[in-house]
Amino acid sequence: MPTPSYIVALTGGIGSGKSVVAELFGQRGVHCVDTDAIAHALTGPGGRALTPIRKSFGSSVFTAAGAFDRALMRTRVFEDAGARSALEELLHPMIREEVGMALVSEAASRAPYVILEVPLLFETMAYRRLVRLALAVDCPVELQRIRVMQRSGLARPMVDQIIASQVSRSLRLQLADNVISNSGDPSKLPRQVEFLHEHYEKRARMER
Ligand code: ADP
Repeated sequence: MPTPSYIVALTGGIGSGKSVVAELFGQRGVHCVDTDAIAHALTGPGGRALTPIRKSFGSSVFTAAGAFDRALMRTRVFEDAGARSALEELLHPMIREEVGMALVSEAASRAPYVILEVPLLFETMAYRRLVRLALAVDCPVELQRIRVMQRSGLARPMVDQIIASQVSRSLRLQLADNVISNSGDPSKLPRQVEFLHEHYEKRARMER
């Protein structure tokens, strides 16, 4: 039976650089589990959340071709707190179940430690019990805004709303065990990742 891994949560505000940092851990052979990717797969083609979503929200949140319309749903949950909690109640248990399975997979249990990418670690607390350490990627809010607008084409008010729904930069920095600074050039990231990778390997060996 595979054992649960030594888990380091990777968190940070939208656009702070979590995916870029996760990629760098991945390049060092670290097993990474991405809660967002899991959520995406659940609502993507053939995803098992589609039927319950259709039951709760009707076909108006689906495109003519039958795909889940994420952009429309995003607008809807920002305008309607009830819709937001209904969607969360439906999706979160499924995501937690899939994450649980990913964390006890053969690949995860063979790894010295596992990175669990949880954007809303401090907001929901759903994964706090599971994780041994919390690593936050940090940059000024203005940079987050610019990066998200460039990456996704979302309008500034929507980006601001998302940022406002997340914990503040200062609270995130207080709650994190480790911080990677992504305020400058991406070339500054590998050294920080390398340092923490060695640190986590040591901690995981000592504490497992
Ligand atoms: P997150 O996963 O935290 O939402 P990403 O890793 O996707 O953030 O980064 C957001 C966007 O900003 C991406 O398009 C990424 O390529 C870009 N980006 C990340 N770090 C930097 C950086 N240091 N300088 C410039 N652009 C960056």
